[in-house]
Amino acid sequence: MIDYKELAGLLFPDIDKTPDYYESLYPERNLKEGARVSRFSPSPTGYLHFGGLYAAYASMLNAKTTDGVFYLRIEDTDKKREVEGGVDAIVDGLNYFGLKVDEGVTGSGSEKGNYGPYTQSKRAEIYQTFAKSLVEQGLAYPCFCSAEELEKIREAQAEEDIKGYWGKYAKCRDLSLDEIKANIESGKPWTLRLRSTGNVQNRIKFDDIIRGKIEMAENVIDVVILKTDGIPTYHFAHAVDDHLMRTTHVVRGDEWIASVPLHLQLFRALGFKPVKYAHIAPIMKEDDGGKRKLSKRKDPEAAVSYYAEEGFPKESVCEYILTILNSNFEDWRRANKDAELSAFPFNLKKMSVSGALFDMMKLIDVSKNVISKMTADKVFDLSYEWAKQFDEKLAALYEKDNEYAKAVLNIDRGNKKPRKDIAKWSDIPDYISYMYDESFTPCFELTGNADAALAVDVLEKYRDIVDLSDDKDEWFEKIKSICAPCGCTPNVKEFKQNPDAFKGHVGDVSTVIRVALTGRPNTPDLYSITALLGRERVIERIDNALNFYREEA
Ligand code: GLU
Repeated sequence: MIDYKELAGLLFPDIDKTPDYYESLYPERNLKEGARVSRFSPSPTGYLHFGGLYAAYASMLNAKTTDGVFYLRIEDTDKKREVEGGVDAIVDGLNYFGLKVDEGVTGSGSEKGNYGPYTQSKRAEIYQTFAKSLVEQGLAYPCFCSAEELEKIREAQAEEDIKGYWGKYAKCRDLSLDEIKANIESGKPWTLRLRSTGNVQNRIKFDDIIRGKIEMAENVIDVVILKTDGIPTYHFAHAVDDHLMRTTHVVRGDEWIASVPLHLQLFRALGFKPVKYAHIAPIMKEDDGGKRKLSKRKDPEAAVSYYAEEGFPKESVCEYILTILNSNFEDWRRANKDAELSAFPFNLKKMSVSGALFDMMKLIDVSKNVISKMTADKVFDLSYEWAKQFDEKLAALYEKDNEYAKAVLNIDRGNKKPRKDIAKWSDIPDYISYMYDESFTPCFELTGNADAALAVDVLEKYRDIVDLSDDKDEWFEKIKSICAPCGCTPNVKEFKQNPDAFKGHVGDVSTVIRVALTGRPNTPDLYSITALLGRERVIERIDNALNFYREEA
């Protein structure tokens, strides 16, 4: 048997700390019974994916609903996949949606918390300390196989069930100390491999919080735990970090399920208590009658920056995420209409096993509802912030007169049944366009029973009596009062009973006025619109419409 201690010293001459040092540097957390520690640990590969936000949300709620800790760790061990600004894109994305981390990476190179560094590239010495200890115990060994040799193994295993560095293929597993020394002296690069204690006959069982009981073959592969540059693979970093950061629950994508036997083996080899796993299925999308994963390449809504650009308020996106995170959320929301999202009793167990479905129409509905409950001031403030970045024209309209803009946004707001016209801030320019001469586009198309002749009649009479100082009742009485002289009835029921006796009803009369003033057959409260437009514009728009209809009639 070779002297593992000597081997460890040979491989890691500069490592002078021991696992015990780090165990006491990062002690067990002093949290109340049942408090969970969860993390979001993305790789900084460019931008925050909607699926990432969804997973981060689940992880955060898992911690917050138990008064635990939620932290952000950056997994940047694969420098090839890293994109400049990738970390800040993640931090900004989480911040935008109000996902507050208790600890971890906070952007612009900073971190907070006592269990850091929270960036894997700053933890090389920690990983190497634990790797050295594995070598000392004979649980890890250096492998000098070149890429070509490994490729040959792959080819030789083409027909085999178990693929990888194991059994007779694990050539470096039993090198003598002299052979290892010679390799090192000749400058051969080496990776460090786990000496797997697994057996092909054995099965392991574990409980996944989302998927329930899972049984799988034990890991027999001697996987690489440190690469040639001394940087760990995901597997090794996961075990070391989640243990030292005292994570209790690992909430991550289900592409990692296949690696759980290896991860449990690593925890055991390292002497760590295993974490609990919750594997999340990817977000799906309906496409061509089938379902597929929400894709970075095909779906703009896969990037969370899309929501900011379109102007979906974070309140809406968070509310929507909860509807797809837990199937009982919507019932809860019906029973708790005005409650804060944080009051929802989120449960990892209620997450979908097959993958939540992303549905843009549903997001739009949820968002309309969320925005309909906001005050005009809030809608103004949030949409103004958005406009300054994404829609200069809207920002300029707002800046002409803030109070006018707020009054426009306040139409039909604050009552029992607020209208649900706005799903995202980019809907606002169209929604308010007729309230500004700059963007008003006249359109004289009529709906219902009205025609050009009736329109001329109605507008001539309305022009004579319109008075902007009328209150809402007086205003409506006046509209009713012109019905009979125009051959219409103020009573819709009466019209329905005897349609041939009238040219239309009060609804048609209102439509004529509405279309003249706004260019649209459907708008929020016409009385408020009229009042805000002011006498001058009202008369001007009526005159324009009259010119048009007179030619038509
Ligand atoms: N960095 C890994 C990934 O982005 C994280 C998986 C995990 O949460 O453990 O897939």
